[in-house]
Amino acid sequence: MSKYWSDLVSQLQPYVPGEQPDIANVTKLNTNETPYGPSPQVASAIQQLLNDDLRLYPPPNADGLRQTIADYYQLDPKQVFLGNGSDEVLAHVFNGLLKKSEPLLFPDISYSFYPVFCQLYGISFEQIPLTEDLSLAVEDYSRPNGGIIFPNPNAPTGRLLGLDAIERLLKDNPDSVVVIDEAYIDFGGETAVPLIELYANLLVVQTMSKSRSLAGMRIGYAMGSVDLIEGLERIKNSFNSYPLGHLPIAAGMAAFEDQKYFKDTCQRVINSRDRLTNDLLNLGFEVMPSAGNFIFVCHADKAAEELVLSLRQNGIIVRHFKQPRIEQFLRVTIGTKKQNEHLVSVLTFLLGS
Ligand SMILES: *Cc1c(COP(=O)(O)O)cnc(C)c1O
Repeated sequence: MSKYWSDLVSQLQPYVPGEQPDIANVTKLNTNETPYGPSPQVASAIQQLLNDDLRLYPPPNADGLRQTIADYYQLDPKQVFLGNGSDEVLAHVFNGLLKKSEPLLFPDISYSFYPVFCQLYGISFEQIPLTEDLSLAVEDYSRPNGGIIFPNPNAPTGRLLGLDAIERLLKDNPDSVVVIDEAYIDFGGETAVPLIELYANLLVVQTMSKSRSLAGMRIGYAMGSVDLIEGLERIKNSFNSYPLGHLPIAAGMAAFEDQKYFKDTCQRVINSRDRLTNDLLNLGFEVMPSAGNFIFVCHADKAAEELVLSLRQNGIIVRHFKQPRIEQFLRVTIGTKKQNEHLVSVLTFLLGS
């Protein structure tokens, strides 16, 4: 606390990101990065930009990458908005499209940044409980609202909602913006982007941090009707006109263009997820069906808090949310084959089976 802080700053309870430990030899399965580096084409694209042109401001709307994403999803570039990571894109979405007189709706178990954005921007919200098995029931969202947002697949559960359910939500709420946060959609889900031409109230947010191996470059984007995107641009140009530098723009384009690498690495993660799921089921874990690059697991006999500590003592970091309904769950990012095997062998030892 400081007397120099505004009332708002004094009251904030900021988001706490998963730790990025400095130590080598840590098996880091806590923040859902992919274990595979970016396409080799990314490094050469960046290399070519290391010259005097860096003195110039980048294009304010990240034009090259905007066009690349538009082509990939068969949209008009005016339907694509880029930001410094999807967290920044989401911040503008909350501020520009979700701050209404009626409350914003999102699940009680969901991306824990959402309530933080609400607090920052003074947005009223209601958390809608997931069902008993932690799935999302769209009929629970049939109530007055100023917007709806959730990740699909959901985080940290990994559960996927089908496009038919999303379409029902869009139809039931024509006056609200419905935001689908597709941070993990490339690991086996079906994107809602094709619904954009049918529903002017749909905004799809994606990131290059997970499936495209570029968390360190900070690239996120939103796709929707020209109206929604123009709203986001108005916010952005009242905040920071140049959220992406020359290097992330080029890196992002190269990553999108190397489709083979993208498909291969996503498939490897999916295969590893299936294998790890099996191994943990055999160790007596309950494993929620996941369409993400992580699994959400719970052990019948061993408390989550205890497991987290023991894993850490063995150099393995996973994520634990001390939150009602899920305090006995661990979220485990899918690692390399070697990392996953290490996890399984340490757990086998810890569980004495
Ligand atoms: C990782 C994640 C993000 C943020 O991604 P960045 O683009 O790295 O800011 C947004 N939403 C969800 C659900 C995520 O898991």
